[in-house]
Amino acid sequence: MASVGFIGLGNMGAPMMRNLLKAGHAVKAFDLSEAARTSAADAGAAAVTVAADAARDVDVVVTMLPAGAHVKSVMLGEGGLFAAARKGTVFIDSSTIDVATARLVSEEAAKAGHAFVDAPVSGGVGGAEAATLTFMVGGPDAAFEAAKPFLEAMGKTIVHAGGPGNGQAAKICNNMLLGISMIGTCEAFALAEKLGLDAQKLFDIASKSSGQCWSMTSYCPVPGPVPTSPANRDYKAGFAAAMMLKDLKLAVEAASVAGASIPLGAEAAQLYAMMAGTGQGGLDFSGIIHMLRGST
Ligand code: NAD
Repeated sequence: MASVGFIGLGNMGAPMMRNLLKAGHAVKAFDLSEAARTSAADAGAAAVTVAADAARDVDVVVTMLPAGAHVKSVMLGEGGLFAAARKGTVFIDSSTIDVATARLVSEEAAKAGHAFVDAPVSGGVGGAEAATLTFMVGGPDAAFEAAKPFLEAMGKTIVHAGGPGNGQAAKICNNMLLGISMIGTCEAFALAEKLGLDAQKLFDIASKSSGQCWSMTSYCPVPGPVPTSPANRDYKAGFAAAMMLKDLKLAVEAASVAGASIPLGAEAAQLYAMMAGTGQGGLDFSGIIHMLRGST
């Protein structure tokens, strides 16, 4: 079994780290939050009080941080993880961050003699707890192969999306499509209400017709048709609207740098910004139906 450093023990990172422990790895864990370090120690990790100590003398380092700026500041520089790790350490960054930062950090890892993959996830906290996450991985073949056994301890579907940054590219393209399709699904159900068409009838028809999509059949934004969807529990997240907004902003930023035209993605970002602006950012992203109905 290997030794692993784990940095970022939040909603996602803590259960992912516990799955590495369950798989028999020795884990050195760090988070800025003392409470997070204490619960990591209770779970069987060696909690350290300086980030660089988690990267010293380990085989693999996993990071699960809020955004690109955190990843950059933790990895780079004199007190950073790349400087502290022994040459040949495998770095797995599972945070959702911008493509440009992922590529920059990957280059810096190579200069320092380390293997690096960007490996953002889909599957949420439930998937992190059950070790059923999907990992979208960007990086050289050798780095992917070295990271894979550790990703398999935390997830079920591991896809090599290509070179550095392509894991992040896959994640933001997928989530942009999800944001757009959720808004479209909400509009269809809100229009049906105004037209006197029962939601269950619309579901029965559209879920078997050409309007069928995941936002409807697995995550229906009205209560009833899909009993497990957040609509049935007052839109308790789930996947918070604020997180969707973060991912849509990353898509808008990436499109601007790459010169891609994403009119619906940009509109979706604006609509989720409006939702967050009314104090609803903590609600599940399917809760945008309230705003689209004009009921908030
Ligand atoms: P979170 O806010 O719960 O956890 C982030 C953790 O990082 C916190 O415990 C914080 O204290 C710690 N942290 C911040 N800066 C740090 C630093 N410099 N050094 C050490 N620790 C630091 O967030 P989360 O929900 O666990 O999400 C983590 C990442 O996963 C984000 O990039 C998010 O976009 C992505 N993600 C989240 C979900 C989800 O459903 N929550 C789903 C997919 C992807």
